[in-house]
Amino acid sequence: RPRVSARLAAIAESATLAVDAKAKALKAAGRPVIGFGAGEPDFPTPSYIVDSAVAAAKDPANHRYTPAAGLPALREAIATKTLRDSGYEVAPSSVLVTNGGKQAVFQAFAAVLDPGDEVLLPAPYWTTYPEAIRLAGAVPVEVFAGVDQGYLVTVEQLESARTPQTKALLFNSPSNPTGAVYSPEQTAEIGRWALEHGIWVITDEIYEHLTYDHAVFTPIVRVVPELADTTIVLNGVAKTYAMTGWRVGWMIGPSDVIKAATNLQSHLTSNVANVSQRAAITALSGDLAAVEEMRTAFDRRRRTMVEMLGAIDGVEIPAPQGAFYAYPSVEGLLGRTIRGTTVASSADLASLILEEAEVAVVPGEAFGPSGYLRLSYALSDDDLVEGVGRIQKLLGEAQ
Ligand code: PLP
Repeated sequence: RPRVSARLAAIAESATLAVDAKAKALKAAGRPVIGFGAGEPDFPTPSYIVDSAVAAAKDPANHRYTPAAGLPALREAIATKTLRDSGYEVAPSSVLVTNGGKQAVFQAFAAVLDPGDEVLLPAPYWTTYPEAIRLAGAVPVEVFAGVDQGYLVTVEQLESARTPQTKALLFNSPSNPTGAVYSPEQTAEIGRWALEHGIWVITDEIYEHLTYDHAVFTPIVRVVPELADTTIVLNGVAKTYAMTGWRVGWMIGPSDVIKAATNLQSHLTSNVANVSQRAAITALSGDLAAVEEMRTAFDRRRRTMVEMLGAIDGVEIPAPQGAFYAYPSVEGLLGRTIRGTTVASSADLASLILEEAEVAVVPGEAFGPSGYLRLSYALSDDDLVEGVGRIQKLLGEAQ
């Protein structure tokens, strides 16, 4: 019998964390590596949030477990914030506070999936979704949309992938890794289709505040309110408030699902760190000035990156409309030779870029089909220009 269970042996390491770790290790070894791998803002957490956590840490009342579902004041703050940002009411009892959005992803799938169920997964997708779906015993069914579709799947595509086993749809707009944002009309059309067929919607809204140009974030439950009974909203403070290290996320859903997920969490992690929850209350109760400042910086970097990547022969890049990732197609470079290496896949290309240009990017294989790279633009303007400049120089040598 195998030493490691089949269930866990089937889980791959998070490719994005692996790239980031490799870049950091090379950097620690003295190499001037520039990392585009990490999905986290380069800004510190706003100081008023940190100050509130420091004060909370000094109060012994906050040194204890909290209720498994989270501090009542935080669940209330999340409900209030949802009304403010998404325009519909939720009861605090419909909110479960989780250790980051990531735990919410796992618990959402665990709460609604049984072995054999299928989940429609628009691809390219965030690397964690298929693992979470499989861990719940279910089957991810990829529905691919490429550059020609702006990385947005259509209802027709979803409908042709639907089977009697289809239990849920994963919806992530703005998207990691593509930066694509569904319009209000597209969101409503997908929502109505899911409602009509009794398909659960797991909607990951963690990049809600990061949109650019004319794109707007559309909460699917706002445009199709009847979906509330079969939708789980995933969100967190990580991306909006530069709080990746604090590990606070949440899920919002109907009471039976939230109850089941809370029971699981009560055995799994008990609750989110008390002090982190206090910091999240401060973040969510305040205004959105800090995120607007970060968004402005991300937007500037986005434009620079799109312009510089777009100038490379063989690279095609639709301008991302949200989150902080660029997702160029490098299919035009596959089969070509760079510094003696024939590039057969985007994984090959990412390795070459790391070795030869000392720049870390995540290959498309981590998010679905080969032929793409993901570059985060949540890094300083200077590093961005230097890093993409090195990529330009290297890929310019392709023969
Ligand atoms: N959802 C998406 C689409 C993400 O990109 C991330 C982080 O990379 C998360 C959820 C989870 O973030 P966290 O667990 O840090 O809250």
